[in-house]
Amino acid sequence: MKKLLFPKAFVLTVFLILYSCSAEEEPTPPQSVVTPEPEPVPTPAPEQYTLTISTGEGGTVSTEGGTYDEGMEVTVTATSAEGYEFTGWTGSDSIQNSLSLTVSGDLTLVANFSPEPVSSEDKFELYYPLEVKEVSRTEIENIYSTSAAKMNSRNAEILTIVYPIGDFISDGGDWDAGFSTFETILGADAISEIRSKLTEWFTTNTDIPDAFLSEVVEEYMVYVEGGADLSSHFGVTESARLVMIGAPTSMGVIDFKKVIIHELYHAFQQDLESDSCRDLEEANPDSNSKWLIEGAAEFFAQTHAEELGFTGTGRSALLETALGDYNELVSEGAESPASLGPNATTAAAAIYLMVLKGYVQESVIFDGSLFYDCARENEYGSSNSNLQFIKDNWFKINSDNGTYTFQSEIVN
Ligand SMILES: [Zn+2]
Repeated sequence: MKKLLFPKAFVLTVFLILYSCSAEEEPTPPQSVVTPEPEPVPTPAPEQYTLTISTGEGGTVSTEGGTYDEGMEVTVTATSAEGYEFTGWTGSDSIQNSLSLTVSGDLTLVANFSPEPVSSEDKFELYYPLEVKEVSRTEIENIYSTSAAKMNSRNAEILTIVYPIGDFISDGGDWDAGFSTFETILGADAISEIRSKLTEWFTTNTDIPDAFLSEVVEEYMVYVEGGADLSSHFGVTESARLVMIGAPTSMGVIDFKKVIIHELYHAFQQDLESDSCRDLEEANPDSNSKWLIEGAAEFFAQTHAEELGFTGTGRSALLETALGDYNELVSEGAESPASLGPNATTAAAAIYLMVLKGYVQESVIFDGSLFYDCARENEYGSSNSNLQFIKDNWFKINSDNGTYTFQSEIVN
């Protein structure tokens, strides 16, 4: 059948040529000197493309885009809001805030901003009256400065009080908080020194009226004098942060150092004491705040401890402990052994899984900016559907020759 088509096509071609030849044989008019206007060639309508331009939190863009003809020049300018800086574009490699584009296809651009480093002048005061586990004052200061150096911005006045306590005496104590009672080994001089440090720090960094000052200070002194096993961060105001560690004899030296990193990270979590963020958290029965706060502190502590060369720390160690805690709850017949809450280790495993899944950037945990502007109740609030996957899967952990990782099917 195909072969038959060739002669037909040939006949048609010949006819067309003849026809056009015959047209030229009409009588030609006298030659004119006027050059004939060329027939206007209809130009095809130019291709059109869509530019979609939007912005993340912290700024605006000069245009939201639209439909443009191919080849058009479009200029887009990103302007940061007060307290933010422009950090680049998603959809372009340019780091300039003003971008000139030649339209050649559909394009989606997002202008990114991040909070400006507001201050690098946090105040850090360490009161360390008695060496704990042969860890020098210099080493604690180094733990502080290497942790602080990772922060995007620091605006805390941190008083850190670290001292040893002795052997376990009893569960609970002369306080409502869940600390246990240990032998007090600080001398009277050191205890009185802690009292005056606290008084001075509260006077300088808070607006507690003088009449109430000693009452407030005594709330903390009860722990010191009573031998409470504090491993605690107290957010006194948005920027006044108190870290108190009473380290029992039984605490391992690595745990001791890791606890210092963990508690200091809480001091860098800027929105912990923001009233508006607290209101959001309290109004939300499904809030993720507790486990995000604890998990980020512990994930940072484990990772930074490993960087500092502390043996038995790091992500595998974190997953090992988290799996152990989970299995213990399962063996006790707990109703929901996977539920995330104030357990820092299981929460840190959940944070780590968020990082591996791309649900949160590791950098925003490490620089503390996950705790700006209450992202834990907004972006990572209960309506973030990615977090349901995390809650359902964080405990799916494998061990291979002592190395703990998430099961590959949940990470991929
Ligand atoms: Zn904590």
